[in-house]
Amino acid sequence: MKLPYAEPYKIKMVEPIRVSTREDREQWIRDAKYNLFMLKSDQVFIDLLTDSGTGAMSDRQWSAMMLGDESYAGASSYFNMKSAIKDILGFDYFLPTHQGRAAENVLFSTIVKKGDIIPGNSHFDTTKGHIEYRQAYAPDCTIDAAADTQLEIPFKGEMDLNKLEKILKETPKEKIPCVVLTVTNNTAGGQPVSMKNIRETSELCRKYGITLLLDSARFAENAYFIKTREEGYADKSIKEIVREMYSYADVMTMSSKKDAIVNMGGFVAFKSEELWRKCQMFCIMNEGYITYGGMSGRDMNALAQGLDEGTEFDTLDARIRQVAYLGSKLDEYGIPYQRPAGGHAIFVDAKQILTNVPKEQFIAQTLGIELYLEAGIRGVEIGAILADRDPDTRENRYPRLELLRLAIPRRTYTNNHMDVVAAALANVKERAASINKGFVITHELPVMRHFTVELERAK
Ligand SMILES: *Cc1c(COP(=O)(O)O)cnc(C)c1O
Repeated sequence: MKLPYAEPYKIKMVEPIRVSTREDREQWIRDAKYNLFMLKSDQVFIDLLTDSGTGAMSDRQWSAMMLGDESYAGASSYFNMKSAIKDILGFDYFLPTHQGRAAENVLFSTIVKKGDIIPGNSHFDTTKGHIEYRQAYAPDCTIDAAADTQLEIPFKGEMDLNKLEKILKETPKEKIPCVVLTVTNNTAGGQPVSMKNIRETSELCRKYGITLLLDSARFAENAYFIKTREEGYADKSIKEIVREMYSYADVMTMSSKKDAIVNMGGFVAFKSEELWRKCQMFCIMNEGYITYGGMSGRDMNALAQGLDEGTEFDTLDARIRQVAYLGSKLDEYGIPYQRPAGGHAIFVDAKQILTNVPKEQFIAQTLGIELYLEAGIRGVEIGAILADRDPDTRENRYPRLELLRLAIPRRTYTNNHMDVVAAALANVKERAASINKGFVITHELPVMRHFTVELERAK
């Protein structure tokens, strides 16, 4: 008999989570003004709000923390991080930062000016925020296929090279400080980019003399998909694939809270010594001295170790199998989600489940609240609340898709937890016909309202 799959680790430390009653949860979510961000974490049973900084560190990472060197300048932890970045990613220069958006801030403060154009494949929100805040533009060049939730193709996060070349051709070179290729493509549902597409994007950038930035939060998951889906890579190790990916890039920004499996940390890495030198000023001003940049020594040590573990096939295989497992359970119950299952999350198609809730009453948010009430599971709305108001008309913007994102933290939950998530969603789906009211906003901030918005039940 072929033996079933099992995770390549055992559990040394456990953290209790609290089971609650529906009555408790009704009270708590009302107190939280129906905003899942405002729940206390102990009011949540299974927390799928994000996979950012929520993974479980290994025994080696914890022991590396004990060896952290907290010297202000030239700490050994910095040099550990430097070796990991050189050996695994192939970059000679880097600056530590407190997280991914800080890496963007350091880099973009140096290279982006008003009126610039930075094309990319579905820029991540903070990336786009840092570009638009500088009155520059972030045109989206993602392939059109990414918008079709039911289409199953292996690399659904790719850059459309025709769209990109059109911009590179029509724009003066000085106005394009870089092109951003995000791997995996978070905004398109954790969908990967093939090596071929990375190489061709790089060739196009070289042809026009433009810097290529890899926004790298989930670069290792991307390498896993290249290994398992792209012809010619099955026999290569993840680390070989990663080295090839970065052979095509000039700069990378990294949120280490994702694939380096730490709770906090990031960096920006450079091939060019000159650009590294230029960026030092903003690192010192905003983050810290160039050998710690907002991170403590122990965190740099854990990050160095995490980069190594995070680029091992077995670690990635366990993780991505778990995301796929949740997808397969949802298939059993006929629950529609963005296909195929991505690297870090499942995006449930709320519009197809809650067909009786009007879009003005926030469909995906309503599904998120129903799932919380059902079983204490916390996801996050990717719908009209997140889409915010039009900056000119101040009208609500209604995106084509109303999604409930269920992000899976690394090495944190078991497949039994995934079974509960799928069954709870199935229960919500079963009573979906009777759910015909959503929520209305009672308080919101002018930007990024989703974090603090307050709601009440629609009458
Ligand atoms: C999370 C993320 C960021 C921002 O990183 P933080 O560590 O959250 O600041 C940037 N880009 C992508 C693709 C991300 O997933």
